[in-house]
Amino acid sequence: MTTLKPLLAKNRSWALQRRERNPDYFDAYLHQQKPHSLWIGCSDSRVPAEVLTGSHPGELFVHRNIANMVVAQDDNFMSVLQYAIFYLGVKRIVLCGHYGCGGVQAALSLPDSPLAGEDSPLARRISALRNALQEGLSDYRASEAEESDKLNRLVEANVLAQFAHLAATEPVRQAWRVGQALDLFGCVYDLQSGHLKELIQQSAEEPSP
Ligand SMILES: [Zn+2]
Repeated sequence: MTTLKPLLAKNRSWALQRRERNPDYFDAYLHQQKPHSLWIGCSDSRVPAEVLTGSHPGELFVHRNIANMVVAQDDNFMSVLQYAIFYLGVKRIVLCGHYGCGGVQAALSLPDSPLAGEDSPLARRISALRNALQEGLSDYRASEAEESDKLNRLVEANVLAQFAHLAATEPVRQAWRVGQALDLFGCVYDLQSGHLKELIQQSAEEPSP
């Protein structure tokens, strides 16, 4: 049996350190939150939004799921997006994927995986991810690069695919229609260097060609 003790102990020591450095640390956002950004990332334990951006409580509104997916039919995701844009007024949305993403790898190997024969939430998600990645998967198959490079390109393709979904969601389009300041950024995180890299940015609805 596990216990909560190690987490509680670290929590108390963290809170103490914060208060020692700044006695008002917890008062600043006691009564309201005003985060500057919505972070949409992967649930992967190695990609903690606040830690890798050096953010404090109150700075990031966060949604994480397997492989940082943007699914317009997902009420959980969409309610976070709606709340962040229209109630919290975030100015920036960061969609962040990461190299070595297990979700992307699972989508790649789905046909040979036990998940393929399953009807479970996880199987349905990975299957939806595979569908969203069709273009990236054909590039993967056509490429003669090293396996690790091909996987990295596939992770980037996932960021670009989810970014396109994000830019097409109703809350984002509505914000842009009424001239609300809202910038979208698509990034990838490198587990090895700890660096975040920007792949794509969009500040308003692109005019139709
Ligand atoms: Zn991941």
